Amino acid sequence: MAKKRIFSGMQPSGNFHMGNYQVLANWIKMQAEYDCIYAIVDWHALTSSYEDTSRIPERIEHMALDWLSAGLDPEKNIIFVQSHVKEHAELHLLLSMMTPLSWLERVPTYKDKLQQLGEMGKEINTYGFLGYPELMAADIMLYKADAVPVAEDQIPHLELTREIVRRFANLYKPVFPEPQAILSPLLPGIDGRKMSKSYGNEIPYAAEPDELQARVRLMITDPQRVKKTDPGDPDICTVYTFHKIFSPEHSELAGHCRNAGIGCVDCKKRLAQKMITTLADVHGRRKEMAAKPDKIKEILAYGAERARKIAAATMEEVRSIMHLS
Ligand code: SF4
Repeated sequence: MAKKRIFSGMQPSGNFHMGNYQVLANWIKMQAEYDCIYAIVDWHALTSSYEDTSRIPERIEHMALDWLSAGLDPEKNIIFVQSHVKEHAELHLLLSMMTPLSWLERVPTYKDKLQQLGEMGKEINTYGFLGYPELMAADIMLYKADAVPVAEDQIPHLELTREIVRRFANLYKPVFPEPQAILSPLLPGIDGRKMSKSYGNEIPYAAEPDELQARVRLMITDPQRVKKTDPGDPDICTVYTFHKIFSPEHSELAGHCRNAGIGCVDCKKRLAQKMITTLADVHGRRKEMAAKPDKIKEILAYGAERARKIAAATMEEVRSIMHLS
């Protein structure tokens, strides 16, 4: 039986942090089970930051290095840069003709982010910013993805894609599957909120051991646990959320926390050590790969070629259905 196909992407924003690493770790797990297509979505980065584009090439290279050094396999997965496959723009344009404006305006993150970026002094009242979920729909539909790994806050975006798929089917022909969500957990920031550079609560992916230890020391724990002798609740503790990713023995640790067998200071030290060890390997591989930029370009060109084949076939079908051939 053919594997189900998934599509996902990340913006090359230049702020790769441990939250992104967690998403990547999920992608790596999925590469055995699914037919995976992963894009560095550089056009998406322009939707909220279009003024200075000079650092985009460097950020794309950095992101490719982050992905590959973490273990994303360019043979098992299609890894490419969105703007290298122009069919994304064509499908986005065609879908924008049939999507009611109100569908885009009601995406919950649109107004929130518009306000947030406005407060930061960004002029973001643009079509590109409003059309961001439309471009995302085009990305997913172009590859006829069956599923998309998403965090909870992206579910409305995926719901919009499903609505656009249904609209296309009603207007023309049902050629696109309605993509399902594969819910992916997100690592919180050190203060327990969503990890984001704008909150200042992120742990940079490139953090050196000293910085890592300092950031882990600042993590909030179970607020009810005042003394070491108080039993703790790992399920409400940010440190434990990280242990679940980095410490294979995390269940045992949860037991020690519940019966006050370990203090929070020791628990944090253990976590920092695990993170340092895991990241040392990844950072080492990243350094080796960074010395061969041509190889990275080659991998991305190979990925774009494979993506383009699928995208071209979809667009041929779409143009034919819409009498645009
Ligand atoms: Fe969190 Fe660890 Fe303290 Fe338990 S012992 S509350 S898991 S930091």
